[in-house]
Amino acid sequence: MMIYKVAIIGAGPAGYFTAQAFQKAQNARTKFIIDLIERLPTPWGLVRSGVAPDHPKIKTVSKVFEKIAKEDGFRLFANVELGKDVSLKDLREAYDVVVLATGSPTGRKLGIKGEDLLNCISAADFIPWYNAHPDFTDVKADLNTDTAVVIGAGNVAMDVARMLAIDPRELDRTDTAEHALGAFKSSKIRRVIICGRRGPEHAAFTAPELRDLPKLENTDVYIDKVQIKEANLRIDKMGEVEKDLKNNLEAMKLIESHMKKGVERRLEIKFLSTPIEIKGNKKVEEIVFRINEIKDGKAIATDKTFSIKTGLVITAIGYDAFEYPGIKVENGRISNIAGHVEHNVYVTGWAKRGPVGVIGTNKSESSNVVELIIKNLKKPKKTLGIEAILKSGHQVIDQVGWEKINASEVISGELVGKPRIKEADWKRLISLGTTL
Ligand code: NAP
Repeated sequence: MMIYKVAIIGAGPAGYFTAQAFQKAQNARTKFIIDLIERLPTPWGLVRSGVAPDHPKIKTVSKVFEKIAKEDGFRLFANVELGKDVSLKDLREAYDVVVLATGSPTGRKLGIKGEDLLNCISAADFIPWYNAHPDFTDVKADLNTDTAVVIGAGNVAMDVARMLAIDPRELDRTDTAEHALGAFKSSKIRRVIICGRRGPEHAAFTAPELRDLPKLENTDVYIDKVQIKEANLRIDKMGEVEKDLKNNLEAMKLIESHMKKGVERRLEIKFLSTPIEIKGNKKVEEIVFRINEIKDGKAIATDKTFSIKTGLVITAIGYDAFEYPGIKVENGRISNIAGHVEHNVYVTGWAKRGPVGVIGTNKSESSNVVELIIKNLKKPKKTLGIEAILKSGHQVIDQVGWEKINASEVISGELVGKPRIKEADWKRLISLGTTL
């Protein structure tokens, strides 16, 4: 029997689906011991700290993760940080295979004047703040403004805009961080504007998410009628178009034509607007856009501009992978060829392909990477695993420890009709996960 030791770094969807692919690939001759290593005291990655709290269905994938964790040969090592508690060099020697599933945690920058003003916040900080990520509890999001602007025409922009635009009482029965729920309840925001730089036909939103918008109970959603009409005319001229694009435009038409409720909360979607400057005295007060037009399928700048008075700008324009010592990041991704980084090091998920695709995308991709790994495997080495490299006494949160945190959060939630109340404090998380 060949027994291989595998370290997967990052306990998000890509990490779990990689573990699952190894588990599925086992047979009478080959076995994999899998150590899932996670920087935070809690696993589940973006399922815990990224997915919008008002979309709980998406989080049910965590049941699959917990099933993977129950399989023989699987161990969780949470509260263990790559580059601090263990080095990549040591991991490479302690394991037959190392798979990086570290995601893309850094928000991209607009690179315009005023981006550093207070209350211009990246979705990469704002989303983990409302999702109780312990590193983001002190994000200073001031919601004391009537209008918020969200930059980007993707699903992340839509999640953020929805969270800002809905009646916060709709979040009462969700796992929104307690500190964020309080802030949303005293928020003065009644108008949220999503601004995309290209046309409706270029938007990165997906149709199911667009179709949900007219169903919001306490928010009216507006989309620019003329822009949608013109996009449809351009698309008609193109002849055959992709189904996803057709569905998106149909969903946008639905938003445009649905009966408005006449409520004070508004979510607006605007296209053809490139942010060029954010103005304000220390804090965001106004954002200036250049108007674009579509020529030959491309967004071209006009000489026209407009501005929106706003006290909050959230940028949701994509993410970059984190650069660990010894790992090269190019175009926001860890440099790799089909998932191979170097020697016995591989990469999967957003860190491999960039920040695109939904949670399920990681399943097929991780299977492909594991297939490649298995093709490249030599005989197992005499490796020692994490115990040989982790400082003795390091407070690891293992699967049992995580289950204690999980149970504590779920029980606190049950008492008040929520799926859980997330603990957002590092020390309390560690103490919950390590005490007997
Ligand atoms: P995305 O889908 O790539 O959208 C990024 C948006 O930012 C695009 O509209 C892009 O416009 C715009 N952008 C980029 N640079 C810009 C700049 N300098 N100025 C203005 N706009 C700029 O990324 P995402 O929204 O972060 O989502 C990441 C992935 O997660 C996507 O695959 C998404 O579907 C997925 N996701 C799914 C869900 C869900 O299923 N419910 C929820 C959240 C996220 P251009 O196209 O012009 O570059």
